[in-house]
Amino acid sequence: MAFGYQGRILHVDLTNGTLQIENPPEEFYRKYVGGSAMGLYYILQDVKGKIDPLGPENVLTLMLSPMTGTPISGQSRMTANAISPLVDGIGDSQSGGFFPAEMKFAGFDGIVVRGQSREPVYLWIKDGHAELRPAAQLWGKTTSQVDDLLKTELGDPEIEIAQCGPAGEKLVRVAAIINMANRANGRTGMGAVMGAKKLKAVVVRGSSKKLPVAHPQKLGELARWGSTNVPLNPVMAGFQRNGTAGGLLSQHYTGQLPTFNFSAGDFDGAEAITGEVMTDTILKTNDSCYACAVRCKRVVETEWMGKPVDGRHGGPEYETAATMGSYCGVSDLHAIAYANMLCNEYGMDTIGTGATIAWLMECFEHGVVTENEIGFPSHFGDAQTMTRLVEMIAHREGIGDLLANGSRRAADLLGKGHEYLITVKGAEMPAHMPQHKRSLGLIYAVNPFGADHESSEHDFAIATDDYKERLAPLGFMQPMPTTELSKEKVRFAYTTQLFYSFLDSADLCTFVYSTTWTLFGAVQTVELVRHVTGWDDFSLNALLEIGARRLNMMRVCNARMGFDRQADKLPAKVFKPLQGKGPYAGLALEKEQIEHALDEYFVLAGWNVKTGVPKPETLEKLGLSWLID
Ligand code: SF4
Repeated sequence: MAFGYQGRILHVDLTNGTLQIENPPEEFYRKYVGGSAMGLYYILQDVKGKIDPLGPENVLTLMLSPMTGTPISGQSRMTANAISPLVDGIGDSQSGGFFPAEMKFAGFDGIVVRGQSREPVYLWIKDGHAELRPAAQLWGKTTSQVDDLLKTELGDPEIEIAQCGPAGEKLVRVAAIINMANRANGRTGMGAVMGAKKLKAVVVRGSSKKLPVAHPQKLGELARWGSTNVPLNPVMAGFQRNGTAGGLLSQHYTGQLPTFNFSAGDFDGAEAITGEVMTDTILKTNDSCYACAVRCKRVVETEWMGKPVDGRHGGPEYETAATMGSYCGVSDLHAIAYANMLCNEYGMDTIGTGATIAWLMECFEHGVVTENEIGFPSHFGDAQTMTRLVEMIAHREGIGDLLANGSRRAADLLGKGHEYLITVKGAEMPAHMPQHKRSLGLIYAVNPFGADHESSEHDFAIATDDYKERLAPLGFMQPMPTTELSKEKVRFAYTTQLFYSFLDSADLCTFVYSTTWTLFGAVQTVELVRHVTGWDDFSLNALLEIGARRLNMMRVCNARMGFDRQADKLPAKVFKPLQGKGPYAGLALEKEQIEHALDEYFVLAGWNVKTGVPKPETLEKLGLSWLID
């Protein structure tokens, strides 16, 4: 067995209430590594055609990697996969915190959850032993309440808990899996899958924090190099000082801050909701994930409309400040912090929730959805309406019952408002604009689980000479403008997508590992895998191949769920000129440019250009001939 692994996968059948432990061979680990690729392996064994994502036939996987729990920055991540109730294809989401490392210390590399329990249960794992326990006493409780109750019930304040929250119980399709009451497997509705299975929580505890690695001295050197360089790397130092929201103002000044539901790229209220303002006003302290020297997480305390914002629920990231802020035209940081707290307390994705509210606000402004239908006016800029709608979605109350389906389904159910959607495959776009970043736009379109900003390198990374040295091992030597989408740019999009696809299989934080701007580059990522596992022949090519394997497995999964190239579409809104007065007002994506790039991309990926489905020879080359059907 390679170093870094526990060599054990836990299989849970909730229908029968049975548990089994599998000991996969090393070849299995070497082929799929961990995270998403490993989860996909199990999902594809079961999901052979269209299924109901909220039915018992869905398979939920929670997977780690060999790096999880080792003493280096950016490794405590856990990936959740299942068929998504938001996308109706593959769902995929990563979270950080202390839960992932603790799950490894508890003795498992992954958990595969099948079936559906009749009564609420929780899964309790300690030191390699696992059991299902009744959870009726936890049902309906919020994330912080469940944390408190379980720590008392199990008599251990050191346990780590991942849970679906009340929103997951209510099958809110933007529901997240929350750990530490503030870290989220946010995207694609994985919390709703957990809730549908009546699995309220997964609780983990490992007595020993020691995890043997192949080359501890070399790993120590790399980790120390990383810690030393956090303050020297301007982006890392900025994350530590002001969190990810520290970049919000520059997004506004360059016309790249999605505003009024992606109608504009600059926001008059931007200066009030920046990471810097957060640091100067409501920040109580920084927080971290296990063993990470970057410490980018925010802990804020304030109040909104007389209600406290509890630091236990962390603080807004850039994505949250944008989706609850500029998307909705809201410039009140306290309201945004409150909305962030509600999402973590009830278990909801801040991107999907905020963007769905912004969609409703735009529908209201255009008279497409009326005050009568909503129950109250819902203007852009109304912070009280924004926070009220977050609560209504969590409770599925009034109009919140419709919005709990995500904006695309809400539009389908209403039969109107489609022109204001900013979704790809049903997933709302995160706060990075494809109008500016064309390779990112391409990746938004082709990504199997919809628009995602952490599935490839963004265009700025190749726009100047700054990252030439780091991109050289991937074969990129020349800068390319952000709005270019040439054949070479498509290759940049695809190649960096493979790299990020590996990161989601190796469960590495994209704020720490990437091909350009983060702490560790491609060469060091390869070294990390060697130092931990002992696979001394591991190479950048092998890394990219694992990334390609995951991507192809996802596309096969989607093909089985009925997807073809028609699903690889960007919303109509991004082809309309941007409003606002920023430097990029009037900018729009061009359909021909994207369609042409899609053709180029499918050729590169070895997928059928007409259908977007992987070709048999591509699957064969990646050792996936078992998926040729
Ligand atoms: S960079 Fe931030 S999110 Fe990533 S592992 Fe470190 S503390 Fe966690």
